[in-house]
Amino acid sequence: MAYEDAIAGLSKLLSEKADLEGVAAAKIKQITAELEKAGSNQFDPVEKIKTGFVHFKTEKFEKDVELYGKLATGQSPKFMVFACSDSRVCPSHILNFQPGEAFVVRNIANMVPPFDLTKYSGVGAAIEYAVLHLKVENIVVIGHSCCGGIKGLMSIPDDGTTASDFIENWVKICAPAKTKVKSAHKDLSFADQCSNLEKEAVNVSLGNLLTYPFVREAVVNNTLSLKGGHYDFVNGGFQLWDLDFNISPNLSV
Ligand SMILES: [Zn+2]
Repeated sequence: MAYEDAIAGLSKLLSEKADLEGVAAAKIKQITAELEKAGSNQFDPVEKIKTGFVHFKTEKFEKDVELYGKLATGQSPKFMVFACSDSRVCPSHILNFQPGEAFVVRNIANMVPPFDLTKYSGVGAAIEYAVLHLKVENIVVIGHSCCGGIKGLMSIPDDGTTASDFIENWVKICAPAKTKVKSAHKDLSFADQCSNLEKEAVNVSLGNLLTYPFVREAVVNNTLSLKGGHYDFVNGGFQLWDLDFNISPNLSV
């Protein structure tokens, strides 16, 4: 469906709804206005964005003229980061990346699909830009605890039937990791299998990165390194490992 059709459909629905429920809608509007007048603590998204930007501008932008002046002329981040869209795992917060330091892609379950000229062009374009134009020196794929996308992958029935429009097809990118976890850890509970899958899926993504010719070339030339990571927000830990899958000492404190 073209977006124009979608908008026309939505307008039609809204007008029908208004006809049917005009009285109810007016009542809701009145109640909302009364609540606002009474100074209720209802969440105000516009206010949240405004105060957030004012805070950033006065506390950061205006206090670091040198940094933001430099960033106005260009960026040369050393890191490309893949992180989950989950609201709890922003890499700029957990790894203290400042503006200009990390070129970030966030998607469901922080997955890197394999090179494919017909699919996944959003991810492919980001990797191409990061490696060929920004010449990042590191790509880090960061998984996390309690990942809903990973749980979704683990929950896909063995016959492969899916119930969602996009989610399951997307997380199937890391199906090889699921197969590995299910055979190596078949005695573990579902939750523990998911924890293992959070890390194994990162390894599949690291392997998928190597299917991009320009990534492979940069790795062979030693100008790019690939790293896996896992952030545990339950226990406050972070693990980091290299492409050869040597787990580093846990960085948790
Ligand atoms: Zn997640």
